[in-house]
Parts: sequence; C-alpha cells; structure tokens
Amino acid sequence: MKNSVENKRERYKKKSKKNLEIILIILMLFLGISIILISLIFFNHKEKEEKKVETSSETVEENNVIEIVIPKEEKRKINDWRLILVNKENPLPQDFTIELANVDKTRQVDKRIIADLKEMMQSMKSVGINNIWVQSAYRSIEYQEKLYNNRINEYLKLGLKKEEAESLTLKYINKPGESEHNLGLAVDFNRVNEDFKNTKAFEWLSKNAKDYGFVMRYPEEKANITGIEYEPWHWRYVGKENAYKMNELNMCLEEYIKYLEEN
Ligand SMILES: [Zn+2]
Repeated sequence: MKNSVENKRERYKKKSKKNLEIILIILMLFLGISIILISLIFFNHKEKEEKKVETSSETVEENNVIEIVIPKEEKRKINDWRLILVNKENPLPQDFTIELANVDKTRQVDKRIIADLKEMMQSMKSVGINNIWVQSAYRSIEYQEKLYNNRINEYLKLGLKKEEAESLTLKYINKPGESEHNLGLAVDFNRVNEDFKNTKAFEWLSKNAKDYGFVMRYPEEKANITGIEYEPWHWRYVGKENAYKMNELNMCLEEYIKYLEEN
C-alpha cells in the first residue's frame, strides 16, 4: 500500500516536472518570439526615421534650389526705370504712367531727367555751343499716332504704295507705343537730321553726354540690333552709371540689357 502511494507521488512529481518543463519551453518560445518581434519593430522604426531624415534633407535641398532661383529671377527682371526698353518688340508697358516736367514752353520730358538734361545743355552753352535746342521730347501716344500717319500720308501723296510708305516711315518714326519718345526719356536735338553729326554739339555730346546720363541711342554700327537707322540727334537717358558702362562696353541698350540679364 505504502509502495503504491509512493509510486503515485513519484508519478505525480514526474508529471509536475514535465509540466514545468513544457511551461518553461513555452515561456522560452514566447520570450524568443517577443525578442524577434521587438527587434523587427525597432529596426522598421529606425528605417522609417532614416527615410524621414532623407526626405527632410531633400526638402532642404529643394528649398535651397528655390532660394537660388528667386534672386536670379529678380536679377533678370531689370527693375530700373532708366533702362525701360521700348522698341518694336517691346511696346510701352500697359500700366505706363508719367510725370512730366517742362524743357521749354511746349516740350516736356520725364520729371526725373529734367535736371540732368538742363545741366547738360547748360554745360554745352558754357563752352560756347549755343546752337543747341531740343526739337522733340516726350510724345503722347496720340501725338505719335498723328506723326506716324502724317508721314505715311506724305509718302502716299508722292505716289508710293501703302507697304512702301509704311516701311519707309518705320525707318524713322516708330508706331505709337513703340517709340522712346512715348517714354519721356529721349530727346531729339536741333533739326533732327543727319547733318547733326557734323556739329560741335554732336562732338561734345559724344564725349560728355555720359556724364549727364545720356547715350546716343541709335549708332550707325548698331542699326542691325536696334532696328533703327543711324540717328545722331536722338539721345536717351539711362543714368550716369549705365551710360558709363554702355560706353565702356560699346553696347546699345538692347545689348546692354541682355548683358545685365546674363551676368
Ligand atoms: Zn528721337
């Protein structure tokens, strides 16, 4: 009897031991799986973090690119009223407005250039060049229209065909809104003809106009760029610094603006 009880106890002990072993194995397995799961989650998170860092560095790079582009764009837009380009390809800006000042009783220019213009003419007179006057200055669009149509009509009366009359007129008179005279920053001196190039006034201007911010706008050798024939009488205000640079670089306004945009 005693034996059978002991046997039972022994069996029970063995059973308990086995159960404990199973529980331990299950626990170990559970622990192992947990470790694997935790490390998987951890690495995955880390990868995501790294990606985040990459993305944010991309954003920084993108921002840098934008930051570089913006100043370039601003540089391209030459924001200088003295350098407004008006020609066949670049008509007067739609929102153009002007404040005028009088050169004499009938002629006007942009208020901002009157002091330099008067000073320049005074300087010429002070060295004995008295035979100088402004023949044409600011022209309203309406006046430019009248001038343009009158010239065409003159040619038509002479028997020229319409196209011929137009192309001949365009050599010297721009269409309304395409003339620098509409801008109020240009003046024509004396009789507005080519003989002006043989005058003392022209010689003086060629040397000194830059000191007052003026340049000869349509030089003979630049006609293919400006699209305008030689006009020794037509002087354009660009401001002193620009006038010096244009002289130094031997550039007309079209070339100079392109130069500024590219540098
Ligand atoms: Zn002119």
